[in-house]
Amino acid sequence: MRTVVAKFGGTSLADAGQFQKIRAIVEADPGRRFIVASAPGKRFDADEKVTDLLLRCYDQAAAGEPFEGTLARVDGRFRDIAEGLGLDFPLSEEIAALREYLAGEPERDFVLSRGEYLNARLLAAYLGFTFVDPEWCVCFDADGKLDAALTRRTMGASLRPLQNAVIAGFYGADMTGRVRTLPRGGSDVTGSLAAAAIGADLYENWTDVSGLLAADPHIVPNPRTVRYVSYRELRTLSYMGASVLHTDAVLPVSDMDIPINIRNTDRPQDAGTTIVRRLPKGETKEPIIGVAGRVGMSVIQVEKVMVSDESGFTAVMLDILKNRRLPFEQCLTGIDTVTLVIRSDLLAPCKDDLFAEIREKLNPDYLGLTERLSMIAVIGEKGTETCDANVRVLQALMNAGMPISTINQGAGKLNLLIGVPEDKYEEAVRAIYETIDEGE
Ligand code: ASP
Repeated sequence: MRTVVAKFGGTSLADAGQFQKIRAIVEADPGRRFIVASAPGKRFDADEKVTDLLLRCYDQAAAGEPFEGTLARVDGRFRDIAEGLGLDFPLSEEIAALREYLAGEPERDFVLSRGEYLNARLLAAYLGFTFVDPEWCVCFDADGKLDAALTRRTMGASLRPLQNAVIAGFYGADMTGRVRTLPRGGSDVTGSLAAAAIGADLYENWTDVSGLLAADPHIVPNPRTVRYVSYRELRTLSYMGASVLHTDAVLPVSDMDIPINIRNTDRPQDAGTTIVRRLPKGETKEPIIGVAGRVGMSVIQVEKVMVSDESGFTAVMLDILKNRRLPFEQCLTGIDTVTLVIRSDLLAPCKDDLFAEIREKLNPDYLGLTERLSMIAVIGEKGTETCDANVRVLQALMNAGMPISTINQGAGKLNLLIGVPEDKYEEAVRAIYETIDEGE
């Protein structure tokens, strides 16, 4: 029998009704033996996540302000779930212990971790599974950095003997037993670590959408869901702002070739999106999987006749950025030009100084800056391999009268990156989506 690790996100575990859906999902496949739980998320738009409430409790307690009202809301969320499911759970004791802890000298990570801790315990009781506290198997070093190798060994040893388990997401502990949290949204990472630790056949990530969309639905009405993406394509999509899965959740499973399937708890009948290195036999994949982008970009253009003969010119330019710890998004070099794409919010505080240094060290013939740009990525390993899709995309932008400031496609041919003015961003995304959708 195959082994599946299924991680359920905050909206999937937001109330008793969602817990019931999860039980039906878990019971539908006996392979779903290891379940990773987030803290209760939002039940409606204006609702607050339990992790945000806990964060507020901590801030209030640390500032010596009353936190009782906020803690009562945390209590209420869990009480609704426990009562809604008819569970006999010692919630009052748990909340009393947290109250006492907050009144002492609380640590932020411990307080934050209680959302996952309590929700996973409730889910374990409801499913009749063993509860696994990640304090014992998700390992951090003394600096609070996740030790992935140690975690894999420890988690493997903890989970392998169990028939089934619910593991709390988002936290672990260091060697002294001090609780540490992963970055926000980190339960995705816990799920990935668990899947790697037991060598699962599949990592399912259950959320509130039926997979990755080929474009931002706020810009393109009803974009299609992507059935398959590669790990590399997913990386680019996340980098460009698609936020279905935490970026750090890819590496542990991709290293072991374990596919990730993004599924919708409210629509378990949907196949969702599967992230794989190799497609299953008989399956095909869209050549262009989607279009994504980011606004708030600036482009610096440095020109000097004979740049191309001065091999050190680009190196000096990059050195200037490195010494200032100013990361860049892209570096394009042409005959006698170097073009750098940099996030505007990072450039703004040091712009004048930086330009003075470039002038002093490189003495350029021309130094220009274009601001308020957006970068659009047309993503697809297969699609950008041939020039057909690129031609169609550029043609669509030309037909839409779009001024293009930069075009970049590396030899890796993973994506085509196009710079357009920020105020034309949405129009450009729509034009590109229409043309790639027609082409499928
Ligand atoms: N509950 C945590 C958060 O809201 C972690 C998670 O849900 O993955 O960020």
